[in-house]
Amino acid sequence: MSDIKKKSPIWHPFTQHALFPEMTHIARGDGAYLYTKDGHRLIDGISSWWVVTHGHCHPRLQAAAKAQMEKLDQVIFAGYTHDPAEEVARGMVDLTPDGLDYVFFSDSGSTSVEVALKMALGYWYHIGSKRSKILVMENSYHGDTIGTMSVGERGVYNNPYNSLLFTVDCLPFPAKGAEQETLDQLEAKIKADPDGVAAFIVEPLIQGAGGMMMYSAETLREMHRICQEHDVLFIADEVMTGWGRTGTLFACEQAGIVPDIACYSKGITGGFLPLAVTMCHERIFNAHYSEDRSKTFFHSSSYTANPIACAVAAENIRMWQDEPVMERVSRLASSHANWLEALARDDRVENLRQCGTIAAFDIKVTDGGYLSDIAPRLYRYFQENGILLRPLGNTVYLMTPYCLSDDDLSHLYGTIGRALDDLS
Ligand code: PMP
Repeated sequence: MSDIKKKSPIWHPFTQHALFPEMTHIARGDGAYLYTKDGHRLIDGISSWWVVTHGHCHPRLQAAAKAQMEKLDQVIFAGYTHDPAEEVARGMVDLTPDGLDYVFFSDSGSTSVEVALKMALGYWYHIGSKRSKILVMENSYHGDTIGTMSVGERGVYNNPYNSLLFTVDCLPFPAKGAEQETLDQLEAKIKADPDGVAAFIVEPLIQGAGGMMMYSAETLREMHRICQEHDVLFIADEVMTGWGRTGTLFACEQAGIVPDIACYSKGITGGFLPLAVTMCHERIFNAHYSEDRSKTFFHSSSYTANPIACAVAAENIRMWQDEPVMERVSRLASSHANWLEALARDDRVENLRQCGTIAAFDIKVTDGGYLSDIAPRLYRYFQENGILLRPLGNTVYLMTPYCLSDDDLSHLYGTIGRALDDLS
């Protein structure tokens, strides 16, 4: 039995309290750093779950939040609107390619994916089609709600809830050299049930929580082409890949494709406040546009388009437009490339890979897998050495804020090298 609650009643996410009885107490953040309550500095090597793009407590985002707080805190969003939401919506339409015409707000990556799935099914339902099957990719992650788990990889994350998850059709991951197999299966599965397949959902270019698995822009383009040919809705989950992570503002740009539905969250507020949007082609909106009230898109949450979160997101969008953020992204990406080239000479690691500002590699271990004890050992080692990194099984990855200095990147890679020495 645990006596954890004597210390704190908090049950933390993705945390095995029996193995991690002590939480690291963070008092403040500044740029690429987090500071613990007892004064230790940590380099935030994973942008605090991939959200903090410009650095912690960025003054422009802080100022936007403060100014908005004095004007309007919150308002019901059904039938009401406000400037910050309008600015975000117009900004998103400007930043994304033509064809993503409408913007639906929600509060997290998971909810943006739930909305995408509901939009897709709602579309087919309201135009009188029976299409309802969802195609997914092996090893993907789209969130932890029942719907998003259903379209994600089945396994240790969701074994207890399997009986509630809906059935989907799964394609093999398009690993290098095996891309054609994925494309063939995509086409075959659609052709086998041409009036049944509603949508295909993917993480473009890189599957994050599934282990930073990368695939080519050409494959992404081909998957999109096949879906278009058969009128299957293409849903891009850009929750992790958005906001410069893959080297372009959004990952789909690299394939030159326009998804029918796309999900954006995490960096939409620069990591400042929870917010997400799901964008869609006008035909999806139009299928719900009717004097018949039963065609209303029945989805909301209490805080939909919270004005303070939207004001921060609007400022984030302006930052992308008037600051050289993309130059910072490119500089960080090329520094990673140099470090990875050096690390490639170490025969204790393999599968070195990079997609823009995301760098990853696998440590060669005999007891691999998500639950092997290598991840917690590394996690502790990194923390003792002033770094927040959270390996996925034996996969170590870096996804830092874009303001990270060269010295700090050097410290990250230096510490990884020493970890390999000390823990081997
Ligand atoms: N989709 C992807 C691709 C993600 O990486 C994540 C979160 N890591 C989500 C959805 C879920 O986002 P959230 O945690 O904000 O609900």
